Amino acid sequence: MKSGASFCFNANHKTLLRHLGDGRFHSGEQLAKTMAVTRSAIWALAHDLRALGLEINALPRKGYRLAHRFDLLDADQVRAALQADALTLLSAIECHDALDSTNTYLAASARAGAATGTVATAEFQRAGRGRMGRSWLSSPGGSLCFSVLWHFADHAALSGLSLAVGVAIIRALRGLGVTDAGLKWPNDIIWRRRKLGGILLDVSGEVHGRQACVIGIGLNLQMAQAQGHEIDQPWADLAEITGGAQPDRNRLLAAALNELLPLLCGYGVSGLQGLRDEWQAYHHYHGETVQLYQGDRSISGRVAGISADGLLILDCGADGQRHFASGEVSLRMNGQHDG
Ligand code: ATP
Repeated sequence: MKSGASFCFNANHKTLLRHLGDGRFHSGEQLAKTMAVTRSAIWALAHDLRALGLEINALPRKGYRLAHRFDLLDADQVRAALQADALTLLSAIECHDALDSTNTYLAASARAGAATGTVATAEFQRAGRGRMGRSWLSSPGGSLCFSVLWHFADHAALSGLSLAVGVAIIRALRGLGVTDAGLKWPNDIIWRRRKLGGILLDVSGEVHGRQACVIGIGLNLQMAQAQGHEIDQPWADLAEITGGAQPDRNRLLAAALNELLPLLCGYGVSGLQGLRDEWQAYHHYHGETVQLYQGDRSISGRVAGISADGLLILDCGADGQRHFASGEVSLRMNGQHDG
């Protein structure tokens, strides 16, 4: 697969995807005419999109077709599917073709004065990020990648924020019928203990001042097999979970924002309070014996729950109960460590 950084997903790729988005065959000649480019340019664009993980069928005399149809993200469609309370809290929604990462982009927007409730999406991320410098893989149409900017009065209260965000995303997924989606502390959205999505927070501001928090979410919709092979832990996508009938991406984004925006508003007032029991009910590792990895060190214990500020509580036998902040720590089942 083409590396994200070396490739520029542009308006022509997006236009071709818009034409192919109905899942039907379109002749190269017709596409070339409509897009006012040559047939070889259409061939090259389709070739690029394949290199990004999209499955495009090409048949002589029939033309090109997307193997799995999907909808491009569209700000108007997302707005139209928002409930009144979420719409009030939304400042702006920007749907980009390609960004390095929606978090990086929105963090820069925050420095330039963007307002609370600004949302940015990207069809394609050149350098999607996970925690601790790890990468997040996505492909155009195969993922939903978006970030939300929210300001909080105080840094101290943010330790439970990624957990609260997880609650919002699970509510949205369950509302769309993905009933057994769950969470793994601190920031993973999982299905049957395979990673379906991730949450990444980037916080900036003065220690005792207003905090600009960029909340990034990546969800797998239809992972290309070649891309899946690059992921060094078990993963899942909505295509598998829903048997190919995954929700329209604009509807999915709206469902997430319908839950997330009001929840962020409430989090600014009462933190994790009121969400803790729900979070624990979604935690698929509750009561399990796990390993916590911090660099080369590891600690084993049974998951007893989370504290009021989002720390993980482990029963560590003779050492009693210990609390862990998410910082540099990764949770794995016993015997599973991918570095
Ligand atoms: P932790 O449990 O500490 O969160 P993590 O390995 O899940 O650890 P994250 O920062 O949450 O780390 O996510 C990045 C990791 O997720 C990558 O190192 C890779 O293993 C995995 N990954 C990357 N892209 C995807 C994806 N699209 N779907 C599922 N997993 C992915």
